[in-house]
Amino acid sequence: MNPLFATLPTSIFAHTSQLAAEHDAVNLGQGFPDFGWPEDVVERAAALLREGPNQYPPMRGLPVLREALAEHYRQHQGVACAVDDITITSGATEALAAAILALVSPGEEVVLFQPLYDAYLPMVRRAGGMPRLVTLTPPDWRITAEALDRAIGPKTRLLIFNNPHNPTARMFDDAELALVAQACVRHDLIALSDEVWEHVVFGGRAHRPLSTLPGMAERTVKVGSAGKIFSLTGWKVGWILAPAQLASPIAKAHQYVTFATPPNLQGAVAYGLGKASDYYLAMRSAFEHARDAMVGALRAGGWATLAAEGTYFVCLDLAASGIEAQDVTFCERAVREAGVAAIPVSAFYDTEASSNVVRLCFAKQPGTIAEGVERLSAARDLF
Ligand code: PMP
Ligand code: GLN
Repeated sequence: MNPLFATLPTSIFAHTSQLAAEHDAVNLGQGFPDFGWPEDVVERAAALLREGPNQYPPMRGLPVLREALAEHYRQHQGVACAVDDITITSGATEALAAAILALVSPGEEVVLFQPLYDAYLPMVRRAGGMPRLVTLTPPDWRITAEALDRAIGPKTRLLIFNNPHNPTARMFDDAELALVAQACVRHDLIALSDEVWEHVVFGGRAHRPLSTLPGMAERTVKVGSAGKIFSLTGWKVGWILAPAQLASPIAKAHQYVTFATPPNLQGAVAYGLGKASDYYLAMRSAFEHARDAMVGALRAGGWATLAAEGTYFVCLDLAASGIEAQDVTFCERAVREAGVAAIPVSAFYDTEASSNVVRLCFAKQPGTIAEGVERLSAARDLF
């Protein structure tokens, strides 16, 4: 067995959801909404299941979805993207896998920012890449030029970026985006930009795709996902946008990972992407409302939270909340004794990190949020 996977633990998300089920806990851990989905998108998928297509779709994705994506990004982000440069994948996870397999050769260095989404490091290592980590620190989790420069060396080939950022809930600002883009251009790096949270952004902020920064269009591989756009995380329809010279090798990796993605779901996502701007505005405002409800209830219960600018998540600052326990201990007690599942942010670091930050998911019904926070607040003395 490959030693990398033989020694890896079960993902923190699967582990936490299982513990939540075992302890009948309010699950504020794994990031998924508990309030349903756009009915019309699901109806469309159901109709397409009955009508077909039900056989293998084209390897690079249904033309109708690739066209819808090109139009979507033109309309929402002013990005000009050729249909030929889009590949549909089975979720962003497969997009990341195909891109990393295609872009990283053994011995090459890959720059990543930690805390990081849990899929990146195992994939980079399995491809033979050597991770070089830039550590962001709370409470502001800022990218600095010094830290970035230290991580880049002569063997660096790829930089993996995630914005809006899971788990910190940060949206990197223009100055930080400029630092990342300038570093990529200066060192001739390819950027793998995980933008799955691009529509879940708050405070009137607009998501700025990395490919729109100077010099980046020809070196950015962008990853997106329908899961977050339509609150359908289980559908696993994702995509890759890349310049032609990168799109082609990545599609070759994709053809030997999954080859294709269910055509009915692709068709329904194409339909959904055609929704008018009000859909996106309403979605953002519903999530922002949920964020405010959770942050308000947490603060009323004496908890300190960090800024939550995008994604489904808000981070609890345990030390600032007067809690001495570290995040792993806190989350173990929270799920077993307080009946609330949460994610320790130390799970998003490469090596055992000590952290006193805990990630909570607010993509939940008002009753779920209220119950979860009430249970945490009532159990404060436990921690
Ligand atoms: N990247 C990031 C940053 C994520 O947060 C997630 C899921 N929450 C993914 C990738 C995976 O997306 P998918 O479910 O489409 O595979
Ligand atoms: N991306 C989701 C999160 O951050 C979980 C995805 C998964 O369970 N693999 O919670």
